[in-house]
Amino acid sequence: MTREPTDPNSSDVVRNLRKQGTPASSGIGIGRAYLVDRRRIKVPKRRIRFDQVEDEVERFQVALKGSDRQLERIKQKLEERTESEHYKIIEAHQLILHDEHLVDEAIGFIQHERINAEWALKRTVEHIKGVFDAIEDDYFRERRSDVDFVGERILRNLLGRDTTPVRPPPDAIVVAHDLSPADTSQLYRAAVAGLVTDAGGKTSHTAIIARAHEVPAVVGLENITSAVETGDLLIVDGSMGVVIVNPDTETVVEYRELARKEAIFGAALLRNRDLPAITADGIDVELVANIDYADEIPFAVDHGAVGIGLFRTEYLFMNEDNRIPNEEEHYRTVCSVLEFLGGRTATIRTFDLGADKMSSLIGDQYPEANPALGLRSIRLCLTKSVRPHFKAQLRALLRASSCGPLRIMFPMISGLEELRDARAVLDEAADELEGEGIPYDPNTPVGIMIEMPSAVMVSDLLAREVDFFSIGTNDLIQYSLAVDRVNEHVSYLYQPIHPAMLRLIRQVVDTATQHDIAVAVCGEMAGDPLVVPVLLGLGLRELSMNAVSIPEVKNIIRSSRMSELHALIDKISYLHTVSEVRSVVHDYFISVKIDTPKVRPK
Ligand code: PEP
Ligand code: MG
Repeated sequence: MTREPTDPNSSDVVRNLRKQGTPASSGIGIGRAYLVDRRRIKVPKRRIRFDQVEDEVERFQVALKGSDRQLERIKQKLEERTESEHYKIIEAHQLILHDEHLVDEAIGFIQHERINAEWALKRTVEHIKGVFDAIEDDYFRERRSDVDFVGERILRNLLGRDTTPVRPPPDAIVVAHDLSPADTSQLYRAAVAGLVTDAGGKTSHTAIIARAHEVPAVVGLENITSAVETGDLLIVDGSMGVVIVNPDTETVVEYRELARKEAIFGAALLRNRDLPAITADGIDVELVANIDYADEIPFAVDHGAVGIGLFRTEYLFMNEDNRIPNEEEHYRTVCSVLEFLGGRTATIRTFDLGADKMSSLIGDQYPEANPALGLRSIRLCLTKSVRPHFKAQLRALLRASSCGPLRIMFPMISGLEELRDARAVLDEAADELEGEGIPYDPNTPVGIMIEMPSAVMVSDLLAREVDFFSIGTNDLIQYSLAVDRVNEHVSYLYQPIHPAMLRLIRQVVDTATQHDIAVAVCGEMAGDPLVVPVLLGLGLRELSMNAVSIPEVKNIIRSSRMSELHALIDKISYLHTVSEVRSVVHDYFISVKIDTPKVRPK
């Protein structure tokens, strides 16, 4: 329900209601709430009477016309921005919309089976998709997702539901039960002031995107969508995980002042972006960035990244049009990153879809009870149907090695068989290029993410067959502590400095050192100021993080000495609980006088 913006001083509204959730992206946002309903639409099924048939057909045709107008508008916008590939896709969607099979079949169902337009549409879409499936041609099979996309648009028009991606007014605070990573990446472009959700955890991809774009966010609030209405005034304190609904004037003034101080601190740190990341006693640390989209590169470099430590290429698959990127698109995207980097290295992770990152490549084919433990990531890539897309990406990455230095990284490797299977596809891609006379660098480094306890346990075996490790702590924590990273009900157990995590990380670093291969951390831990001294003390010299975290992490590195960091590790190695470790790390910050807003006196 929407109502006019609330006057916080009137008596009929909730005032100064404080809700505690999980801090997901720091910063303070103040703005009006904008509620978004992203639940999946259920298709209503109704039988209709003979005298209702004509109206139902009319309703269907109106929805078709509405959909056509919307596509036309999107096309015009694309034309202005000369995005010809997207333009062609929208054109294709219009063709499907007008296709006589779709239109006649749906109308036929309404007339002859006397069912409502939504149900008739659903049956038609399923039938057309079935026909495409039966054609032995990748092109046609891929067109299934276009039919889905068009079907969803008509359905939303029939039901009077929002047909566009979420488009809140600038400076709004978006309130949702949950947001997909794809929604979130649209939202930051809409310049919202904050995000708050019922669901989610600190390392859900939604939270990661919010951090990457400096949008204050609090997740895991459990029932914020029922406590807030569109138009309510909200304060989002992303550092403390607090949301205040309809704050009084005093509270607004207090938070504005806090926001001003944080902005000054951030600007001061940013001025140091060209200084080297080197400890006070001369140890070099490489600070690189995690990116989800190629256009984040300038931002990363501006924040002091000396390369890219993790390019999450799966976001190429998570686009508004449900399009599956081909070899050319992979190649162009990666080359554009390498060209911008001008000789600095980019680590490109092969696409890691599944769990909370869905795309038309997965569609509804694999409904799973435990998606994080299911057919995702490298497992998905190695299936018969997805393997060709995986090979297309690997061909593109090998080709891109002539645009600049890159490293290829496989995600979610559980053991040697999987690594060898992935490498076999890479070898096939290389042989093909060889045969076609297409140049590539045969010495392109190949590495893996260490994200599962099994990979840690056999890291000595894996180390013999790869050039580098990158520890994906987001998933490593999830799988080691058995805590779903997107589940707000267990987020209190998601503890990066759990003694078990420290032992696991130490084992990976020691193994990599013994086998003389590079090792980095690219999970969110790398950009968490409170954890950085621990990682340095454990021996890590390459940290990859959201670019916004780089200035603060660099400040910590420049204020640290290895002798003090080793002493810190000696102390925490004997501790038994998370709270003991946290307390010692806190004291470390106070004793070495590192200035960071995350550490406040106890
Ligand atoms: C990780 O798991 O730590 C990681 C960096 O990968 P992602 O967050 O994309 O799962
Ligand atoms: Mg991961």
